[in-house]
Amino acid sequence: MKVLVINCGSSSLKYQLIDSDTEEVLAVGLCERIGIDGRFKYKPEGGEELVIESAMPTHKEAIKVVLDALAHEEYGVIKSLSEIKAVGHRVVHGGEKFASSVIINDEVMKAIEECNDLAPLHNPANLIGINACSAIMPGVVQVAVFDTAFHQTMPRKAYIYGIPYGYYEKYKIRRYGFHGTSHSYVSKETAKFLGLDINNSKIIVCHLGNGASISAVLNGESIDTSMGLTPLEGLVMGTRCGDIDPAIMEFIAKKENLDINQIMHILNKESGVEGLSAVSSDFRDLTAAAEEGNERAQIALEVFSYRVAKYIGAYVAAMNGVDAIAFTAGIGENTHEVRTMACSYLGYLGITLDEKENMRRKENVVISTPDSKVKVCIIPTNEELAICRETVALIK
Ligand code: AMP
Repeated sequence: MKVLVINCGSSSLKYQLIDSDTEEVLAVGLCERIGIDGRFKYKPEGGEELVIESAMPTHKEAIKVVLDALAHEEYGVIKSLSEIKAVGHRVVHGGEKFASSVIINDEVMKAIEECNDLAPLHNPANLIGINACSAIMPGVVQVAVFDTAFHQTMPRKAYIYGIPYGYYEKYKIRRYGFHGTSHSYVSKETAKFLGLDINNSKIIVCHLGNGASISAVLNGESIDTSMGLTPLEGLVMGTRCGDIDPAIMEFIAKKENLDINQIMHILNKESGVEGLSAVSSDFRDLTAAAEEGNERAQIALEVFSYRVAKYIGAYVAAMNGVDAIAFTAGIGENTHEVRTMACSYLGYLGITLDEKENMRRKENVVISTPDSKVKVCIIPTNEELAICRETVALIK
């Protein structure tokens, strides 16, 4: 079955067409600058990438451009759009309403809209994408796969904040966690790869990308995760601060005469390793600069890795042990320096890294030594494939 996977941002739309039987990616691409001028990237399997300037006043035109390319006579990968049997949408926030993926209907659309408050930048864009697909592909089943859903198994003690309880009751302020599709996929792949019984396993997933989060996955269920009400909490990230003393906000506001919007901008866009290093949010730049002796880049790498190690320690406590630690996403998969630095704090768990394996760039690889008490591995994430699998599971 062919499944179109869509990830809509406010001015962008990423897509993949996947054959769910073979799990082969038939085409992949991106619509950018929607509502501005419109740029379309399309890469059919085994073919060259095409970049086409194409007017995209709204997401509806963007979806139309994607579908036209997929069925194009010359470079298309399907003969007719009727071959697309389902669309899987990444939806960022499902609040407490969605603990799993769902087939989209009017009621679901309303419920997603009710979560807009919790993800004001993302959920409205996701809804626009769903509406655009309904208009252009009427009758095709659409499924919503939520970033927050996997973490809905967290126990109350993990998701309630130490603020007046009324705010949870009134506004649903609590930890939700994000990257759930990735944490779910990678924890399952880790168990499969290592031959663990997922129903009797303790796995820590370190999703280290530009946005970064860690989760404790006990017997296949998320029991804690580092992101919170929003994706600002937890690890130090590319440009996000992660955990800080909340009083810092008032302190900076007074010293620099800033309002809350300016403070939030600083914490979301000007902090993290970029703010620390004044070099870049990209770990390729950071590691290169650190190697050349740039001290601030070195500080950024140290702070980032130390925070990762502290969260691993916290989740070992939460699960009363750990069988495996999986590194994934851009940094987790590629930046061996971070894996080395984070694991250097974990000797007390009997963890030793095999530095030769750690340096090797290979998919699904164990990077701990054979006598390490806990297996440490690199498991590449694949959120699109996870969305495709969820979509197929629901409509079969
Ligand atoms: P993600 O958000 O998962 O796409 O991760 C993106 C981040 O991964 C980038 O900002 C880089 O800091 C980091 N990264 C390090 N090495 C690589 C690499 N070889 N390819 C892609 N991303 C990398």
